[in-house]
Amino acid sequence: MRSTLFGQDHEDFRMVVRSFLEREVVPVYDDWLEAQLVPRDTFRALAKLGILGLNMDEEYGGSGPASYLYSVVLWEETARALVSLGPLRCHLDVVLPYFRAYATAEQRRRWFPGVVTGDLFTAIAMTEPGTGSDLAGIRTSAVRDGADWILNGAKTFITGGVHAELVIVVARTSTNPDDRRDGLTLFVVEEGMPGFTKGRKLAKLGLAVQDTAELSFSDVRVPATNVLGEEGKAFSYLGRNLAGERLGIALGAITAAQSALDATIVYVKEREVFGKPLSSFQNTKFELAAVATDIEAGRALFDKAVLEHEVGDLSPVDAAKTKLFCTEVQARTMDRCLQLFGGYGYMMEYPIARLYADARVTRIYGGTSEVLKTIISRSLGL
Ligand SMILES: Cc1cc2nc3c(=O)[nH]c(=O)nc-3n(C[C@H](O)[C@H](O)[C@H](O)COP(=O)(O)OP(=O)(O)OC[C@H]3O[C@@H](n4cnc5c(N)ncnc54)[C@H](O)[C@@H]3O)c2cc1C
Repeated sequence: MRSTLFGQDHEDFRMVVRSFLEREVVPVYDDWLEAQLVPRDTFRALAKLGILGLNMDEEYGGSGPASYLYSVVLWEETARALVSLGPLRCHLDVVLPYFRAYATAEQRRRWFPGVVTGDLFTAIAMTEPGTGSDLAGIRTSAVRDGADWILNGAKTFITGGVHAELVIVVARTSTNPDDRRDGLTLFVVEEGMPGFTKGRKLAKLGLAVQDTAELSFSDVRVPATNVLGEEGKAFSYLGRNLAGERLGIALGAITAAQSALDATIVYVKEREVFGKPLSSFQNTKFELAAVATDIEAGRALFDKAVLEHEVGDLSPVDAAKTKLFCTEVQARTMDRCLQLFGGYGYMMEYPIARLYADARVTRIYGGTSEVLKTIISRSLGL
């Protein structure tokens, strides 16, 4: 079924992205995999194409308000090219929306020009060694000291934690015995602030080029001018932005599933077993027919959700349903496709192995499938 989402401007943008990926990324992608990092210059090159300024204020070099569909095109094309731009999706679609929504005029002047040129990269640090799903359990604390706040704590699994110069840190600034969600505040911690340390880049099962790091904060003096939004309101900000984050994960899942299907169709036509192409066996046809149908259903759900997101109407429940379904489609797809590759599917030199490994996390980060089911079941009055 044809997607009705895109107009000519999106298709023109698609061609720009496609040719950039073919020219600048695909030929060197094995080097990135070896280094387990996206070179910083790649972000600066993307900035020259205007991609880092999408949706950023025009007065700081950005495009001004832009449709999220440009992001959809960007992530469709990276999936199609079988590459990843590492933490860029998190930077563009998860972290920058917080800056756009809550930064003061002075903060915009300070940070937005660097964001648009790719000189300032961002990350968001919610998760801690002791708490992930239960965000109200955050222990990182900030205590007021004159014109500053003193920040102490540790964060883990932070996407872009190695690259980032600006990290939004969620910290507890007060406690309310009647409401655990009350009293969390967003702080922008800048690289170089004394007491702020980036720990090791974590070795992961998948997402090889995405830097994921531990961060620690020991008596970091953060000026009050680096508080993002209102003191104590972070939980409601997180709730509002998580819907967009979950939609982005659903998109990554469904586009990766499509790439796996495409790669598998090519493979089963080439591979011969028992003297016949693998594609000629009924099991192969039925498996791939089921996969294609699953993807179509996921894509239809995503397309519906993205239209609601475009008009600011995507509810947390619908975002949860979309992420839950699309990531489960992705998991089923990767498993079925890898099986058709036989032993070659288990070898990292075949893209299906990477797609399989990368897929595992999408049912965990941005809200686990179980957490999403609690949100959905609550909407059913359960
Ligand atoms: C690669 C990667 C990148 C990440 N990037 C970031 C980032 O940039 N910033 C950031 O802040 N975090 C990031 N995270 C953290 C991620 O969001 C958390 O891992 C996730 O929210 C789950 O938290 P947890 O790991 O502490 O698991 P836990 O919360 O300890 O969950 C363990 C298990 O308990 C289940 N569970 C939890 N609560 C319930 C419940 N109420 N009912 C039933 N079951 C439940 C979970 O579903 C899971 O199966 C990243 C994680 C990974 C792996």
